[in-house]
Amino acid sequence: MAKAAPQLHREPDVKEIHVVWMTTGLGCDGDSVSITAASLPSIEDLVMGAIPGLPKVYVHNPVIAYEVGDDFMRYWYQAAAGKLDPFVLVMEGSIPNEKIKKEGYWAALGTDSRTGQPITTNEWIDRLAPKALAIVCAGTCATYGGIHAMEGNPTGAMGLADYLGWNWRSKAGLPIVNVPGCPVQPDNMMETLLYLLYQVAGLAPMIPLDEQLRPKWLFGRTVHEGCDRGGYFEQGQFAKEYGSPECIVKLGCWGPVVNCNVTKRGWMGGIGGCPNVGGICIGCTMPGFPDKFMPFMDTPPGASVSSSTSGLYGVVIRSLRSITQHTANTEPKWRHRRSTLTTGYQPAHYGNA
Ligand code: SF4
Ligand code: SF4
Ligand code: SF4
Repeated sequence: MAKAAPQLHREPDVKEIHVVWMTTGLGCDGDSVSITAASLPSIEDLVMGAIPGLPKVYVHNPVIAYEVGDDFMRYWYQAAAGKLDPFVLVMEGSIPNEKIKKEGYWAALGTDSRTGQPITTNEWIDRLAPKALAIVCAGTCATYGGIHAMEGNPTGAMGLADYLGWNWRSKAGLPIVNVPGCPVQPDNMMETLLYLLYQVAGLAPMIPLDEQLRPKWLFGRTVHEGCDRGGYFEQGQFAKEYGSPECIVKLGCWGPVVNCNVTKRGWMGGIGGCPNVGGICIGCTMPGFPDKFMPFMDTPPGASVSSSTSGLYGVVIRSLRSITQHTANTEPKWRHRRSTLTTGYQPAHYGNA
């Protein structure tokens, strides 16, 4: 009698999973657009059932949905009522602080049938986060606040971990998962989402995250460590103008201290990745972005020392870089959900006092 074939996959604990994708933070929908370019896996792979072992996946994202109006909103209400179980919540865009203004609102989606008032993004997070099996933040706005949370902003914008708390856990015991980038690198986001879907289906171990809640395998190396121009850096050949194939550190590249894998992974189909194709790294994956990297086109601090001693690379340079890297990996102190605005915003400076 023939032996039974070894079982490659055990049956998932759940038959279907929903992805409720909020784009109503302060943002530009760029991360939703970005993931349409993913191939490892593609969004089509996910929803068409092409991935072995996964339950049926339904994605509810306003940028790519066919449904509109009430047909689309019903998933949100079902999720909030605990009738769309299980679901993974994806947050895109930064979280405004609705506590700091006297009237109106910063961001909202849908209308509360009891009050006739818009349902703010803050309220949606309060309704959905306790019901979600996992939460993943797509892009730097949702992870750390991003562009909208820079100094002087009037909205008190912050990342989701600043809003819910950095030690927040889902009802399944998972921390918030951050996939930064402005926009998020397509395959970084889809690969992380796939990992979480496997995890909530009971088919993967706890996702490994760093202190900034980023997947370790994606953000454990610097831009510089994967850059095609590393040979020029090592030989002391530095571009003085754009269009040169040489290292662009003196034009403002922050690659040596930035955690990001696009120089290794490329952007679409393995092609691209900012410095590989001539764009300076401005640190868009980092909690300190944008403030700690501005002005963008200036030579970064420490670049002159490290580039002039590139032949003597070693312990001293790496340890100096780790100090800068630590600072860039720390958010500015004004990103919080208290009822005071501490961004230094002065209405009179912006002409609307
Ligand atoms: Fe847009 Fe960048 Fe914010 Fe994503 S992180 S919503 S791409 S501004
Ligand atoms: Fe490093 Fe930037 Fe130069 Fe690439 S271009 S080698 S990331 S400093
Ligand atoms: Fe952002 Fe720099 Fe990575 Fe480009 S290389 S995606 S600017 S962190």
